[in-house]
Amino acid sequence: MSEDGHCRSPEWHPKGADKKVYAGEVVKVVDSSGGSFAPKRFKRPRRKGYDSQEILAGLQAGDRTLLARGITCVESEERTHREIAKSLLALSLPHSGKSIRVGITGVPGAGKSQFIECLGKQLCEEGYRVAVLAVDPSSTVTGGSILGDKTRMEDLSRDLRAFIRPSPSSCTLGGVAAKTRESIVLCEAAGYDVVLVETVGVGQSEVAVRSMVDFFLLVQIAGAGDDLQGIKKGVVEMADAIVVNKADGDNVNRARLATVEYSRVLHYLHPFTEGWTPRALSCSALEGTGVGDVWDTVVEFCDKLKSEDRFDSIRAEQSVKWLRSLLEARLLEAFYSDDKNATKLASLEKDVSNKSIAVVEALDQLME
Ligand code: GDP
Repeated sequence: MSEDGHCRSPEWHPKGADKKVYAGEVVKVVDSSGGSFAPKRFKRPRRKGYDSQEILAGLQAGDRTLLARGITCVESEERTHREIAKSLLALSLPHSGKSIRVGITGVPGAGKSQFIECLGKQLCEEGYRVAVLAVDPSSTVTGGSILGDKTRMEDLSRDLRAFIRPSPSSCTLGGVAAKTRESIVLCEAAGYDVVLVETVGVGQSEVAVRSMVDFFLLVQIAGAGDDLQGIKKGVVEMADAIVVNKADGDNVNRARLATVEYSRVLHYLHPFTEGWTPRALSCSALEGTGVGDVWDTVVEFCDKLKSEDRFDSIRAEQSVKWLRSLLEARLLEAFYSDDKNATKLASLEKDVSNKSIAVVEALDQLME
């Protein structure tokens, strides 16, 4: 419904059809800056195809539709889109790197979206621009998604300062993670100060997200079974902070106890980020209490690394590792896609299993 109380017909509204049936609902946007933030006037050309320069100009002017279009090109497997994405990324790279990148994980139901909505709104009110991206491994397996299907973060998505993008739903986890990395670059070029990357704490996706963010936060809840709640110990080891959510109502004490317990566990673990002892905190994303303390911890962490000149070098290391992992993936793909290799491998596998050749010898033959 538009502000004047009317429904608008979409462009594809069939001629002569009942207007009410084809009406599109227009939701009101919120400008948390009280009007001081407004996207610059950007005249978007009225056609379907955009080149990378136009997309860059648009996203830098605060046009969220063109930012979304840029990300669509990044996510697309289509050749023309890939070309645009490549050139757009090259143009965006010099404008990127200025945001704080935070990874957020936790099992479904822990309250990640509620937390992100609450934190996102607080940050927008403080004047930050916030982008939310998702890495959802379920979308790569089933085509459905744990993170993207429900209507999420409705309030935040209406805020002019926020941008929310669900997980790309195709290809492998590696592919989804690659696209999210590239999307971070576009969000930063678009001037977002904070990029929140959300993932489900049930598998490999945490490793991928950990390697693309500065700070990694694990959202937990108190008293839902055993300590680690289906979260692998490895995920706890990657966290720079754990926040026990839903510390409200009858649950306040349990959340407090769980926080003490996590503090104890974290104290004994080797910190993921050298020189930073991970913290356990509690919050209620529903009531908004404690969420600010989590953000203060993120800022303290970044300030510490910056004062020690390590913030950028950690990011540089991440990029180098990323290049290597892409190289390995590319080499493997090249190896397996060659028919000659496949035939040779099949025959050597037989030889290895019936012990007619040593494994090292088979490897040497394959490498030749
Ligand atoms: P996600 O699957 O981790 O993204 O979890 P959601 O954000 O969708 O939250 C799952 C459920 O927990 C929803 O019904 C939320 O309303 C509820 N929830 C989230 N945060 C809180 C909180 O701080 N306190 C309480 N009491 N409920 C919460």
